[in-house]
Amino acid sequence: MLLTVLGCSGSVPGPESPASGYLLRAGDTSVLLDLGNGTFGALQRYLDPFTLDGLILSHLHPDHCADISALTVYRRYHPHPPPGEVLPVYGPPDAAERLIAAYAPNAVERIRTDLSDLYAFRSYGGATARIGPLGVLAARVEHPCDAYAVRISHAGRALVYSGDTGPCPQLVELATGADVLLAEASWPDRPDNPAGIHLSGKDAGEAAAAAGVGRLLITHVPPWTDAEQVLTEAKAAFGGPTELARAGTHYDI
Ligand SMILES: [Zn+2]
Ligand SMILES: [Zn+2]
Repeated sequence: MLLTVLGCSGSVPGPESPASGYLLRAGDTSVLLDLGNGTFGALQRYLDPFTLDGLILSHLHPDHCADISALTVYRRYHPHPPPGEVLPVYGPPDAAERLIAAYAPNAVERIRTDLSDLYAFRSYGGATARIGPLGVLAARVEHPCDAYAVRISHAGRALVYSGDTGPCPQLVELATGADVLLAEASWPDRPDNPAGIHLSGKDAGEAAAAAGVGRLLITHVPPWTDAEQVLTEAKAAFGGPTELARAGTHYDI
């Protein structure tokens, strides 16, 4: 699998990167993990958005899904749309309702626009779903809204993306033995960090160590957080290969 970071800025877009969005390709199959503010522009550097095979949403905070409205406009109003099928969108059960509300400004338009001409909304079950050759398994994690970490597997390799989460055993269980853990780290380790929202660098490193992953990529560092401090914490807690995800970078998995 080839992971391309479209954006990795935490909570909001930053001066060097859009918000959260990751393109994952294996052979002819391409999926997106999140599509936060600014990521739709970056996506077009790498492929024709009509060729996507699936969209996987960790949760419905704007920094993870705001650019679906841009994808909607692109798919609906492109002057030469290729014949194709609706795009599978995996996410929380209220994804359709929330994304329709984000796209359509009033009740009349919402009735006219259920987006079913463009997307097939699917909730996560407890079993592995398939998008082409990719396996997709999700686990509910700890965040102020319905939020999921996802494990994508292909040909004996696995990537786990934390989405947004506080420290939790569900993340460690899902990530166990993964080749790469793409983990958020939104703040430095402090005794007064609120519970059940985000990981610190230390938390991300501890999760990577507990799960025995091969490599840790730190992401979702907000513009107001010292990324080097978060990275130093994560490295110390994990003890394995650790780096900061950077927008526009590719990682072989
Ligand atoms: Zn976020
Ligand atoms: Zn969030």
